[in-house]
Amino acid sequence: MTTSQPHTGSYYAATANQDAGYPPLSGEQHADVCIIGAGFTGISTALHLAERGYNVHVVEASKVGWGASGRNGGQMIGGISGEQKIAEAHGAGAEKLLWEMRWAGHDIIRERVARYGIDCDLKAGYLDVAIKKRHLAAFDAEFERLQRHNFPHEFRLLSAGETADLIGTDAYIGSLLNMGNGHLHPLNLCIGEARAAADNGATIYEGSPVLGVERGSKARVITERGSVAADWVVIAGNAYHSLLPELHGILFPVNSFITATEPLSAALVQQMNPRDLAVCDPNFVLEYFRLSADKRLLFGGRINYSGADPEYIKKNHRPRMLKIYPQLHDTRIDYAWGGTIGVPLNRVPQFGRVAPNVLFAQGYSGHGVNVTHLAGRILADVIAGTEERFDVFAKIKPVRVPGAYRFRHQLVALGVFYHQLRDWL
Ligand SMILES: Cc1cc2nc3c(=O)[nH]c(=O)nc-3n(C[C@H](O)[C@H](O)[C@H](O)COP(=O)(O)OP(=O)(O)OC[C@H]3O[C@@H](n4cnc5c(N)ncnc54)[C@H](O)[C@@H]3O)c2cc1C
Repeated sequence: MTTSQPHTGSYYAATANQDAGYPPLSGEQHADVCIIGAGFTGISTALHLAERGYNVHVVEASKVGWGASGRNGGQMIGGISGEQKIAEAHGAGAEKLLWEMRWAGHDIIRERVARYGIDCDLKAGYLDVAIKKRHLAAFDAEFERLQRHNFPHEFRLLSAGETADLIGTDAYIGSLLNMGNGHLHPLNLCIGEARAAADNGATIYEGSPVLGVERGSKARVITERGSVAADWVVIAGNAYHSLLPELHGILFPVNSFITATEPLSAALVQQMNPRDLAVCDPNFVLEYFRLSADKRLLFGGRINYSGADPEYIKKNHRPRMLKIYPQLHDTRIDYAWGGTIGVPLNRVPQFGRVAPNVLFAQGYSGHGVNVTHLAGRILADVIAGTEERFDVFAKIKPVRVPGAYRFRHQLVALGVFYHQLRDWL
């Protein structure tokens, strides 16, 4: 269960646009749809539904964007984790649908940013960088797929030298440039979308941890001081909730951490990232970085740590950042923070029902910026009576590990260690 706290500590919190501030839930309320959790999944669903005229209430334990959605790397990455497994489960006929879904979240974000004038530093440009030869082989396959589908944005395979010219480091042996991906200020996107949902008639409550969901043709979402009776309930708490036993043991919480340097000089920016690209390596225990709007290096990666001490995170990240960018050895790190990602064992995002009118969507691994926005549309479609895209995911049953909920943190540490070993090979 989350605790109600304001956004603090992160670069995003320090540069957040003023949010509307929503009251806690009190008294008996009624809605067509009640959504639990105001991250991208919850807010995106609420906005889709509010635009279609539904009476939507969103109940958030803390603040809009308080979970992973307001803390992440802001990398807008195409594709869906576990895509290979989804393709295998649905056969060759699903390729067209899957291809459309890979990029759907990007389109939704771009449309919303334009339509609602959301100020979230949205930029185009992304570089997948290779450390091992097998990474290059994967980029070749992705390049061929982009070509086959006539991908409408610039994309190019780059040599080690061309990569170094583009991002000012010789740490990588090649890369794939994709100008259809991009990056953004995730907390400001979430705050902007929440405001748009509220302007379209959605009701949002903050500081209202949900304690339980009573099932029935009218389900009831219950908090300490109130409840919402609704025809539909959507559970969008991802790795930040433990509300329903049915969802225990299928989603593993993995922590990731980000540091933000002081703003870099114009000369460093020109040398390190003149095209303002988001950069990510393909390891499971991966590193990712990009520049913020005010030209700080935001550097992210996983560490075996579950705390929130900024000094510990800075100390851990600095040598890894300097290995890639030794030119930053005199650069100060101003911010450090972490968040929790929901990772399913088979990596396939989890969409399903815990009752006929109680839906959930969770477990996007590191692709959540994009796929949460697709999820919002899919959940809104189910409520409006269309299940085609929902079924693509719902048909793949999540892998449940008995006893995993109790020992989830130990299992995650073991799992990360296993993947770290594979990354090294
Ligand atoms: C450090 C980090 C870096 C990442 N980097 C990237 C990236 O660069 N690109 C990318 O695509 N993805 C990235 N991700 C993943 C991405 O952020 C997530 O997949 C995505 O934000 C999940 O959104 P969500 O709305 O499902 O969950 P969350 O954003 O976690 O929201 C869940 C919300 O539910 C609320 N909640 C939980 N329980 C209750 C309750 N009982 N009652 C009421 N409310 C409740 C929480 O307070 C929270 O606000 C990263 C994640 C982290 C942590």
